[in-house]
Amino acid sequence: MRKSASSLFASFITICFLLLLSHPVFAQAKKAPVEAIRQSDLKRDLFLLADDHFRGREAGTLDELKASAWIAEEARKAGLEPAGDDGTYFQFFSLIRERVSGSSTIKIGDRSFNLWKDVVVYEPSFATVDAPVVFIDDADTVAEETIKGKVVALQFTPKGLTDPRKSIAWRYSGFVIAAWARKLGAKGVKAIVFVSDDLAEQAWPRAAQYSNRGSYQIEGSLFTNRQQLKGIPIIWVRKEALNLVREPDQRLKATIYSESFTYPSVNVVAKVKGADPVLSKEYVLFSGHQDHDGVRAIEGVKDSILNGADDNATVSVALLAIGRAFRQQPGRRSALFVWHGSEERGLFGSTWYAEHPTVPRESLVAVLNGDMIGMNAPDSAALLGIIPPHLNSSDLVNIALLENARGPKFKLDTEWDKATHFESWYFRSDHYPYAKKNIPALFFSTLPHPLYHTPADESTAINIEKLTKMTRWMYATGFAVANAAKRPQLEAGFKLER
Ligand SMILES: [Zn+2]
Repeated sequence: MRKSASSLFASFITICFLLLLSHPVFAQAKKAPVEAIRQSDLKRDLFLLADDHFRGREAGTLDELKASAWIAEEARKAGLEPAGDDGTYFQFFSLIRERVSGSSTIKIGDRSFNLWKDVVVYEPSFATVDAPVVFIDDADTVAEETIKGKVVALQFTPKGLTDPRKSIAWRYSGFVIAAWARKLGAKGVKAIVFVSDDLAEQAWPRAAQYSNRGSYQIEGSLFTNRQQLKGIPIIWVRKEALNLVREPDQRLKATIYSESFTYPSVNVVAKVKGADPVLSKEYVLFSGHQDHDGVRAIEGVKDSILNGADDNATVSVALLAIGRAFRQQPGRRSALFVWHGSEERGLFGSTWYAEHPTVPRESLVAVLNGDMIGMNAPDSAALLGIIPPHLNSSDLVNIALLENARGPKFKLDTEWDKATHFESWYFRSDHYPYAKKNIPALFFSTLPHPLYHTPADESTAINIEKLTKMTRWMYATGFAVANAAKRPQLEAGFKLER
């Protein structure tokens, strides 16, 4: 009995699977020739693109342009057609950088503070402050009349914070500032002075670097104006200044200026035309980003180049390999490849392309985005955009899951796609601006790791075999979509909200 029941169950499963395969979306599904993706190509390209030669490919710098030119040249050699602006492989856009000006002056009592050396002004603004300092212990309960019209000073305090970000110093400090600045600002203060505690002090070098670089935007940014307060400077001094700040009758004199710069950034865009005269007017978009975090001297760390081998040279070279595979055997629909610029500064390349696509937006049938696909456990991966509220096309998800079952058989993570996940990973890569435009979209990733955004994210740390499997999976998914009778449908009632 037991045996026949289980074999009955097995046949039931087989029938379900066959029914699934006969669904119109899969009707044309022939297996992608994944061997066309060659591990040796991926390895060679990865070591070239994540080499020190490109100095970390920082958005808005010549290094990003150089890396983009290299990708375009490799795409050309692979036989991909240009699909950017004016018959080129490129789509340029302007990156706007704003920062606190180095000519700002900050004085507490008799001591002048040096910007980025012993003081950080947390966000660009214009302000002149000359007011007494009131040191407080509890930002939550302090009375408005105690601090109104004055400069409020406090130590970073972990009191009452159980946030998981506490485990990472720079996230913790950002979180503390976000938590208190608005509350204090609402009580009419002239400026806020945060003094490092031990944990915040660890975040200091990074905060100084970020402040020196400033914040970035493009016209139409999805994350506009991250500022907490307008015209009320948020000042952060190191722990050694605690006694000075606590002295009674202390005064802050500060003049804060800001400055802005405009730089070119660029998307690289290429295509392989589909074989079907009608369906070739539709595109499966393969997406990644070529930029990373550039050169950053970090206290106590010898290597200053952030090569971003996993993030996101892996996907950049995966797209080249997928392009070559499509050249060998085109799909019925066309394959479009976009290496987005300025992802690390705020998903700007993808925001720009989703707003200004070089093919009609309605012709984009799916976006398959990858970010970091070569690390962590060899047998596991994540696919995001597969559970509500991020799920925007069951058709597309089913294809990707089927291709995982037919191919790499990764154990798929079930946590990072959740809206409740504290990292908000779903919102941190280039599929997001497309999903916002109601284009079926998926995000392939092998998730962060201890080398994430450090100089140790190097080619030598990448699991090339896993990278190959992930690339083949993205390719097989896109190949199936390109050959399906019907384009993947958007989930009924899908509305992407954060
Ligand atoms: Zn990335």
